[in-house]
Amino acid sequence: MTVAGNRQVYIIDEVVHFGGFFQGDTVGVNAHPKEDSESRRVLTIDDHVWDNLKDKHNLSQGTALLLRFHLGDVAEASVLGHPDREQLRRAIRERDISPNPNLRAIAYHCRACALWIAQEPETAPGRYACVICHTPLAGT
Ligand SMILES: [Zn+2]
Repeated sequence: MTVAGNRQVYIIDEVVHFGGFFQGDTVGVNAHPKEDSESRRVLTIDDHVWDNLKDKHNLSQGTALLLRFHLGDVAEASVLGHPDREQLRRAIRERDISPNPNLRAIAYHCRACALWIAQEPETAPGRYACVICHTPLAGT
C-alpha cells in the first residue's frame, strides 16, 4: 500500500450505514477528498475491497482513507490515518502495522495533515517526510 498512482486520499465526514438490503456487506460513508472539503460525496465501500481494515465498525469521522476508483466505484480501500492514534490503532489489523523497529509504534504523526498515518514516512537523506503532503516531519 503506497500513496501513489491514481489513488486519492479521502476523509470521512460521517459513517452513514453498515450493510444494506441490496448492497451486501458494505459500509457507507460521507467523505471528501483531503484537498477539497467542498466535494463531499457518499461512498459505498464493499467489504472485500479493504486491504488493512480490522473492523469497519471502528471507522469514524476523521478517518483518512486511501481509495482507488474504477468506473465511479471504490475498487481498493485502505485505512490511511486518523487524528486520534488510538482510533487508528483500533481500525487497522495488527499485521499491517509497520514492522520497522525504527518507527515510533504504529504510525507517524504529521502536523500539517493533523493525522496519525499508518505508513512508513518517505525517507530522504537525513530526514523523514509525510507520504501525503511531503512535509518534513518534526524531530527528524
Ligand atoms: Zn502530512
